Amino acid sequence: MSDQIEKVKCLIIGSGPAGYTAAIYAARANMSPILYQGTQPGGQLTTTNEVENFPGYPEGVTGPEMMIELQKQAERFETDVRDGWITKVDFSADVHKVWVNDVKEIHCETVIISTGASAKYLGLDSEQKYLKLGGGVSACAVCDGFFYRNQEVVIVGAGDSACEEAHYLSKLCTKVTMLVRRDQFRASKIMANRVKNTENIDILFNTETDEVLGDGQVVTGVRVFNNLTNEKHDIIATGFFVAIGHQPNTGIFQEFLNLDETGYIINTPGTSKTNVPGVFVSGDAADHVYRQAVTAAGTGCMAALDAERWLASKTAL
Ligand code: NDP
Repeated sequence: MSDQIEKVKCLIIGSGPAGYTAAIYAARANMSPILYQGTQPGGQLTTTNEVENFPGYPEGVTGPEMMIELQKQAERFETDVRDGWITKVDFSADVHKVWVNDVKEIHCETVIISTGASAKYLGLDSEQKYLKLGGGVSACAVCDGFFYRNQEVVIVGAGDSACEEAHYLSKLCTKVTMLVRRDQFRASKIMANRVKNTENIDILFNTETDEVLGDGQVVTGVRVFNNLTNEKHDIIATGFFVAIGHQPNTGIFQEFLNLDETGYIINTPGTSKTNVPGVFVSGDAADHVYRQAVTAAGTGCMAALDAERWLASKTAL
């Protein structure tokens, strides 16, 4: 352990739109924020190609470019942006303790958690190849569906997200083929019925992905198999959407914060407050519903304002 314990007013964990927006607000409120970027600087958006739905970019912007601009904006107000991975926290006392890379110990008056969530993927080599190439694999229909308008796409999953995303895609695409691995949906009846009643959504039950097909650059189809008969066939598609759930990056907080059964941090509704005074949450770490860059940014702003007011109320005592 380092014998040099650093003391900070506001520590922000995570470098997606939530973390950087929290930093911009906290820095402008003289809270001298320190932001740790984590293992994926820029967060989920760095795996997205074109972002066309973030207000203020009429021509669109790539995910990585937007994150560089957000970082610059946070640094312009003297946010201290650092490399490092928060590996442990202790929120059991008034001073919130945080460890960076298991070594450096920091004592924080306020902590803003913006660690996000990670989309789950199937893990097939072909899926990962086209995901990395930005060639037709996506885990966000609202972000990327527009690029596939008037085309045929495949979506995997049978939960509420998959149903919602399949329905969203059905309004843009000529055909949506939905791959459901069991003989039934996991989604609520109303969501499943909406999908079943949509003409251009074709549901294949007991069907899984064997391989994502492509020309080396972009997706051209999907080879699927029936898990009862093992029969395979190919489906023509230019987009392959994966909607099999998200995993919030909240494992290190579970001993101290209230989490739901999936691991999302439970905040006081309408605020960014967690069950620990002085610890706030923003972005996808607490949001399994909207999961958009703009909503993450909005809650980042809320977290900084809540942190500032919490500090002010303490000094007023
Ligand atoms: P869920 O965990 O509910 O569903 C995941 C789905 O993906 C399941 O159908 C599961 O299949 C399937 N799946 C998982 N792994 C694989 C795999 N390797 N291959 C094929 N299929 C796979 O996640 P969601 O993101 O859909 O929902 C998360 C939570 O958010 C839920 O509580 C949901 O109700 C909520 N939600 C609510 C919405 C709303 O109310 N508007 C919108 C979106 C989400 P199987 O069923 O066989 O396990």
